Amino acid sequence: MAMQLLKTAAGMRAFGQEARSRGLKISFVPTMGALHAGHLSLVELAKNHADRTVASIFVNPTQFGPNEDYTHYPRMEREDMEKLEQAGVDAVFLPGTAEIYSEDYQTFVTLPKLAGGLDGAFRPGHFDGVASVLAKLFNIVGPDVAVFGEKDYQQLQIVRRMVADLHFPIEIVGAPVIREEDGLAMSSRNRYLSEADRKVAPAMYAALHTAAKRIGSGTPVAEALRAAKQALLSAGFGPIDYFELVDAATLAPLNAPQGAMRLLAAAHVGTTRLIDNIAVIVGRP
Ligand code: AMP
Repeated sequence: MAMQLLKTAAGMRAFGQEARSRGLKISFVPTMGALHAGHLSLVELAKNHADRTVASIFVNPTQFGPNEDYTHYPRMEREDMEKLEQAGVDAVFLPGTAEIYSEDYQTFVTLPKLAGGLDGAFRPGHFDGVASVLAKLFNIVGPDVAVFGEKDYQQLQIVRRMVADLHFPIEIVGAPVIREEDGLAMSSRNRYLSEADRKVAPAMYAALHTAAKRIGSGTPVAEALRAAKQALLSAGFGPIDYFELVDAATLAPLNAPQGAMRLLAAAHVGTTRLIDNIAVIVGRP
């Protein structure tokens, strides 16, 4: 069947209800569009988890700070629709802003612990916007499974927590980071990089990879992090917002290896802010 384009919450809800009434399982991939191979890998995973796959494209205003790139965020709906159709998505939810936020809109979901640190410290209110719009999208689509990329690792942990806390009957599936050949994590924002910035950008993954290997093989955490930040600056990155070892589930900072761990980083190159992360496994060189 041809891919359906749904622009209203009522239309999207009806699609979900119809599928569920036939006993079909629904998987969901929320996005902000400007789709790349990372997004499409989520669609592939989603298709393997259900009978019907829904993707959404919505550039959510409440997750952008006043000085962030909301108005300039890339919008390319026609190309995105083609990619989603090609990928075998059954329905695309593409609401206008007024469909999602009424004029007197006021409800927000807040996760004080998980959303306070790391990106949350540098982007106040960002994760309230993310969690709130996802709660709304989950209520409209009614998926059984929702797929999120590990690229936005803090976001993935926040979604897992919110779904458990608010009893959403949804299985959250995490998907590995898809990278360019030189290691740069794919991102809709990579198109902001100048030619010179693009050459600097892979240093982010290189620094994460090296630090993860060093911590995994016994280098003191502080020393590995210091060297990684130095490597980023030497490569041409500007301010580093954070480069931290954290508990993989709670995101609490770690000074020494302990349990499941993740290295998370955010830094600026030119006018672009890049984030990336990697697992740290002790004993794996
Ligand atoms: P966005 O459109 O940036 O909101 O991203 C939509 C979804 O795609 C989120 O779950 C992201 O984590 C995921 N995503 C974005 N880039 C990548 C990537 N390079 N690899 C895997 N997942 C990604």
